[in-house]
Amino acid sequence: MRLMMLGPPGAGKGTIAKKLIDKYAVPQLSTGDLLRAAVKEGTTLGLEAKKFMDAGELVPDKVVIGLIKERLAQRDCQKGFILDGFPRTLPQAEALAKITTLQAVINLDVSDEEVIVRLSGRRTCAKCGAIYHVRNIPPRTPGKCDKDGADLFQRDDDKEEAIRNRLNVYRRQTMPLIDHYRAAGILHDVDGAAGVDSVTAASVKIIETIK
Ligand code: AMP
Repeated sequence: MRLMMLGPPGAGKGTIAKKLIDKYAVPQLSTGDLLRAAVKEGTTLGLEAKKFMDAGELVPDKVVIGLIKERLAQRDCQKGFILDGFPRTLPQAEALAKITTLQAVINLDVSDEEVIVRLSGRRTCAKCGAIYHVRNIPPRTPGKCDKDGADLFQRDDDKEEAIRNRLNVYRRQTMPLIDHYRAAGILHDVDGAAGVDSVTAASVKIIETIK
């Protein structure tokens, strides 16, 4: 399976991808996670990327293309993958097309108002990356991960000003990918405002047509 999740920040790309990788046993390739890991490790790439990420801007194409190329070359990607947050620009899509061919793109459609509610309430586990929402997907104990009990944190770019900027960046730089993949005949629209279970079920239906 060679799948990509598309949609604005907060559409649920990561949440749904996590459900799907459990079911299909393929890796989730998230450039956001790869970049956050580089920031945490304090690598040169991480330090360079952090400025863009904190402002809600995109990290330069060259950097993320290099990261994903390296990741796709790893053995576990041979049986397939779910891309989450890549590509985000047309040049990234063109670079990806030179490495591999996507079978399907799931486009999660969510309104700006819903994105702001979701992102401002999003909390992430510092240890395993599990995603919660203070209202929609609350952990059993406030501030603690259900899986490992580690602290939950709010991402710097989930503060309101960065969210608005990320939405503008999405509209300007990422939305053209919708037409790009629709023209290629592989785009599937899914109502991202439905609950996690319905969105997962709709995604599974799409995957069953390409497997
Ligand atoms: P995400 O976790 O996917 O929301 O990504 C968090 C941040 O990482 C984004 O706001 C960008 O600054 C950066 N980022 C992630 N993926 C990409 C990408 N494909 N191209 C450029 N920047 C990215």
